[in-house]
Amino acid sequence: MLFAHARAPGAVALRLDGVVQAYAGAADPRPVLEGLSMSVAQGQFCAVVGPSGSGKSTILNLFAGLIAPERGTVEVLGRRGPEVLAAAAYMPQRDALMPWRTVVDNVALPLRLAGVGAPEARRRAQALLERFGLGAYAQARPDALSGGMRQRVAFLRTFAPGRGALLLDEPFGALDALTRAELQDWLQEAVLSAGATVLLVTHDVDEAVYLADRVLVLRGRPARFALDLAVPFARPRRRDLTLTAPFARLKGEVLAALGMRLHGEGGPGGGDGGG
Ligand code: ADP
Ligand code: MG
Repeated sequence: MLFAHARAPGAVALRLDGVVQAYAGAADPRPVLEGLSMSVAQGQFCAVVGPSGSGKSTILNLFAGLIAPERGTVEVLGRRGPEVLAAAAYMPQRDALMPWRTVVDNVALPLRLAGVGAPEARRRAQALLERFGLGAYAQARPDALSGGMRQRVAFLRTFAPGRGALLLDEPFGALDALTRAELQDWLQEAVLSAGATVLLVTHDVDEAVYLADRVLVLRGRPARFALDLAVPFARPRRRDLTLTAPFARLKGEVLAALGMRLHGEGGPGGGDGGG
């Protein structure tokens, strides 16, 4: 089984408790996070949406152990403090594939870093590529792939070490709409088959409601959760879900929490400079 400790009902996989985080030398001197708390249950797919600069990547960096909070507690799969580093798998905003390595060696890299021998790491990477429809690209270099293919490879590299929690920072932000939709379905399938806990940061409200069990809206400085919304749709979800009234209703709640003016509320017109 890929994620040995992925499912223990009721247990908490990711937790922030009273976290304070400020950046010295930031243009805005107020802390980004001040006493922020949140938790994600094991096996839950949680999305965080919020405007640029609200602190979404900061939250992922805390869970990845790349930064330590000034105050408060960060917990990942029962680990705290310096042990948080690399407890969860992290896919940063830019794919950062190594252009001089083949696809299979890019996917094998985190296994090598975890101490797996080269032949075994490559064998496991190859199996993962085949299982997710990328076997034919194993010997290609990343530059020879389309944007969508690169993102799949970057995701499988994140997925390869089989950690119980995945931190994904706008993984599909740079892709065209059709490719993005295709990759969302692919991600859903991969995550469902593994039973992993996911924390997905996205700008895309449709993506959040389509994929997540729960959507958090982050806003303000210091940032607060303006909404914690349960998304109860059954899985696997199919694209036509996005055309239904219940989907539109949940999407409307997220947009309202983001401060968007919706038709039928607050008078005529869409305001200035929308989009
Ligand atoms: P988001 O991912 O939601 O766009 P970030 O977490 O990247 O937001 O950043 C939140 C705020 O913290 C922003 O105002 C940003 O300018 C500031 N910030 C983030 N990283 C740094 C840094 N290394 N140095 C100074 N300021 C930073
Ligand atoms: Mg960010």
